Amino acid sequence: MGKVIAIANQKGGVGKTTTTINLAASLAALEFRTLIVDADPQANSTSGLGYNPKEIENSIYECMIEDIRTRDAVIQTDFPNLDLLPSHIDLVGAEIEMINLKNREEKMKEALYDVKEEYDFVIIDCSPSLGLITINSLTAADSVIIPVQCEYFALEGLGKLLNTIKIIQSRLNTALTIEGILLTMYDLRVRLSNQVVGEVTAHFQQMVFNTIIPRNIRLSESPSFGLPVLAQDADSKGAISYLNLAREILAKNGRLPQDQTV
Ligand code: ADP
Ligand code: MG
Repeated sequence: MGKVIAIANQKGGVGKTTTTINLAASLAALEFRTLIVDADPQANSTSGLGYNPKEIENSIYECMIEDIRTRDAVIQTDFPNLDLLPSHIDLVGAEIEMINLKNREEKMKEALYDVKEEYDFVIIDCSPSLGLITINSLTAADSVIIPVQCEYFALEGLGKLLNTIKIIQSRLNTALTIEGILLTMYDLRVRLSNQVVGEVTAHFQQMVFNTIIPRNIRLSESPSFGLPVLAQDADSKGAISYLNLAREILAKNGRLPQDQTV
């Protein structure tokens, strides 16, 4: 059964989508069957993999609200072992439509049920809010990765997110764990970056991944090519750092292939 990992932080621009695409591509490159679920109405994971959200007929939205089988909405990407359950703008309306549904927090969990066993990992790209879709994502997830940008106000909003996770753990998903806090957009030359690393590590200690994602131009360019950075420039610092993150997660979960070391 695949492990479902939500990439969440209600702050925009912290690296959720970049982490989703490139962590998923790294797991896929290491030969783990991986599904990306784009749970953000902005559909950046969908477009970042080269698909036009306006042309998507069946998205996660139809799988949650209508009678569309999730299997039928999944797109096989050009990248081996990597599939996508896309998003489109209508997902915004889903929050409102779901309000009156029974078990409205569990629609994504139900939608993923029939495909979960076909994958080793399911990575959910959450939207920058703590609304019903994100609650659905966290209810469907086994664990959550929280990207934190090495910038001013890095810790802002984290308390609220951790509180939401606690509420979900107590009411909707007792098995939910925190996979780790991921420091992103680190710039060696900027003193502030080092301060944030120090502050976050002091505060959250073992919860913080050893892997730190550097600020890397290739990572910011790759969505315009509709490709994960690994497919575009496998030797770039960005590609290597996400491969390291994938290996760290595999090691933590006892899934690292025998012939690979972290
Ligand atoms: P979110 O999904 O949290 O809103 P994104 O992943 O879209 O954040 O990242 C926000 C912006 O920063 C995007 O333009 C993205 O290309 C860029 N970006 C993200 N991570 C990096 C990085 N490590 N180095 C350089 N640019 C990055
Ligand atoms: Mg995003």
